Parts: sequence; structure tokens; C-alpha cells
Amino acid sequence: MSRIAKIYTDKDTTLDPMKGKRIAVLGYGSQGRAWALNLRDSGLQVTVGLEREGKSWEQAKADGFTPKKTEDAVKDADVVIFLVPDMAQRLVYRERVRPYLKEGMDLVFAHGFNIHYRLIEPPSNVDVYMVAPKGPGPIVRDFYVKGGGVPVLVAVHQNHSGKALEKALAIAKALGGTRAGAIETTFKEETETDLIGEQTILVGGVMELMKAAFETLVEMGYQPEVAYFETINELKMIVDLIYDKGFMGMLRAVSDTAKYGGFTVGKQVINEETRRRIREAAEKVRSGKFAEEWIEEYGRGSPTLSKGMEEMDKSLEEQTGRRLKELIERGRPKS
Ligand code: NAD
Ligand code: MG
Repeated sequence: MSRIAKIYTDKDTTLDPMKGKRIAVLGYGSQGRAWALNLRDSGLQVTVGLEREGKSWEQAKADGFTPKKTEDAVKDADVVIFLVPDMAQRLVYRERVRPYLKEGMDLVFAHGFNIHYRLIEPPSNVDVYMVAPKGPGPIVRDFYVKGGGVPVLVAVHQNHSGKALEKALAIAKALGGTRAGAIETTFKEETETDLIGEQTILVGGVMELMKAAFETLVEMGYQPEVAYFETINELKMIVDLIYDKGFMGMLRAVSDTAKYGGFTVGKQVINEETRRRIREAAEKVRSGKFAEEWIEEYGRGSPTLSKGMEEMDKSLEEQTGRRLKELIERGRPKS
């Protein structure tokens, strides 16, 4: 079933397919800013396209771009990169991109959602491909500036020119991604794994596990500050160890008592039932049910999302975290 992924690095790739192309980066947020700056620093020709003069517009100007209205950036472009929020892409495509699409143009995505779930259905005479950085925008920029790069996934949905993969790899290189590596995937695999990952672990799972542990300790009468350090703050150090040295490196760095307790109790907390639920969540992504639900929520003005943000902002763990941050700041040596 599993196969070995194809990985491209700097030596397998060239910027040539993007040289002389006029690239419109739509959106100047987390990814948009990183892409526009990295691509420009790599010698490519970048215009930033935005809906209106606001915060992103000011930021782009401060970074030395001359932003244009979305449709003006698109009219003059060979390559259009969608870096506005996923839920906004459909409307931006329909109103500002579709009317100006010409044969031979490229539509580029950083996440497969709109193509995979058919919210955007481009005509067959353009290339459609993806370069998806596996990290937040500010890190994509920071690693690039320091001579490195965040790994990326690349995928081709439509290959009108016959050169779509080469172009995706050229953008991956300009982003710094091939300094680490670009792994070839499909829109389906990227979209589904990205959603499953953020729901079950990266955002949902980890946050709920930390909350569950924190709130249980507090209910049992332990001080919130002590509980916060133990169940939330220290996680970063453990994850950093895993990130740098793998599970074995982390295990070697903790005590034998921690190893023994971890091996025996971890499996009781995260058990077969948890696995069954991860599988259920994954099936809901695969069937398109999750996408349907999220599109419907977005259409109603995202009430569940707003409520989640509000509740978290007011939660005891967040309040405790803020208080401790002040304490840590106070203790930091001045200058
Ligand atoms: P973001 O929310 O940080 O940036 C949004 C940009 O779009 C801003 O310039 C904002 O002004 C503009 N914008 C906001 N609402 C808009 C609307 N309704 N219409 C038009 N423009 C609007 O977005 P992001 O997190 O950088 O995500 C961009 C793309 O990158 C998405 O496809 C996302 O899945 C993908 N991606 C993001 C990350 C990440 O770490 N943030 C990682 C990998 C891939
Ligand atoms: Mg994600």
C-alpha cells in the first residue's frame, strides 16, 4: 500500500520555468507576505494583488511593493497565486480572476481545498498546481532569510502546458522549500491529510489534550499556575526534543520514571477508543462531509468559530498563561 515519496531538492530544480513570468500574489497575510518576499528575493517578478487598501496593503507598501487591486494584478499576470483565506478564494476566483483568465495562465494554490472540493473549477486551458509549505508563513520567511527553507508539498491538478510540475518546483525553489525538500503529492492527499492533521492533532487534538489535563488538575485542587507549567508550557520543550532528535532523543532526555509512566499510562489515556475517533474524523474529511459543514458554517458568518475564539480567550488556562507570560517577561534581563 505505502510507497516511497519522490523528493526534489535544490540540485534537481531550476528557477528557469518562472524566469520572466509576471507573478501575481493575491493576499498579503501569513503566507502571502512570505511568498511575495521570498520570490522577489529569489529574483522573480512579483506583484501583490489585494481587495482593498487596509492593513495588508500598508504592510506590502512598507515592504517595498506597489500593491494593485486584485483584478489589475491578475490582468497583467502569467501566474496567479491564491494566498487569501481558503473560504474567500471561491469568490475572488469568480469575480476577479475568472473574467481575465487567458489560455496558458497558471493558477497556483498553497492548499488544495478549493480545487479538491470543486469550489473552484478552472477551464482546461490553464495549468493548476500547488506548492504547500509545511509550516506557518512567518517561519517560511524566517528560514529563507537565514539560508534555509521549510519543506513543501507539490502537486499538479491540471497540466495544460506539459510543464506544470517544473513550474511548481521552480516556485518551491524560489520559496526556499527545495533547500529542505519538495515532496510530490496529489491535491487529494494534501487536502485530506492537512485537514485530518490539524483537526486530530495539530490544532484540535493537542489543544483539547492540554485543556483536559489542565482542567482536571485544577479541579483536583492544584494551583492553576503549577498546572499550567506542567500541562501546557512544558509541552514546547518536549516537542522541541522530538523535533530535533526524534522520539528516542526525547525519551533519553527524560527520567526513567517519566519513561515508565509514559509507556504504561499514555496508552490508557489515548486508547483504542481514541484511535476509532481519529479514524471517524478522517473518514468525515474523506467523504467531504467536513468540507460541506465548514462551507455552511462560513456562509452563516462562522458563529461556531467566533464562539470558540471567545471561550478560549476567557478560559482559565489562557488567563493563567497571560499572567505567567508577564512574570517571565518581568524576569527577563533588560537590554
Ligand atoms: P491569511 O488569513 O493570513 O491572509 C489573508 C490575506 O487575504 C490578507 O492579505 C487579507 O487581507 C486577505 N483577505 C482576507 N479576507 C479576504 C477576503 N474575504 N477576500 C479577499 N482577501 C481577503 O491567510 P493564510 O493563512 O496565509 O492562508 C493563505 C493560503 O495559504 C490558504 O490557502 C491556506 O490554506 C494556505 N496555507 C496557510 C498556512 C499557514 O500557516 N497560515 C500554511 C500552509 C498553507
Ligand atoms: Mg493546515
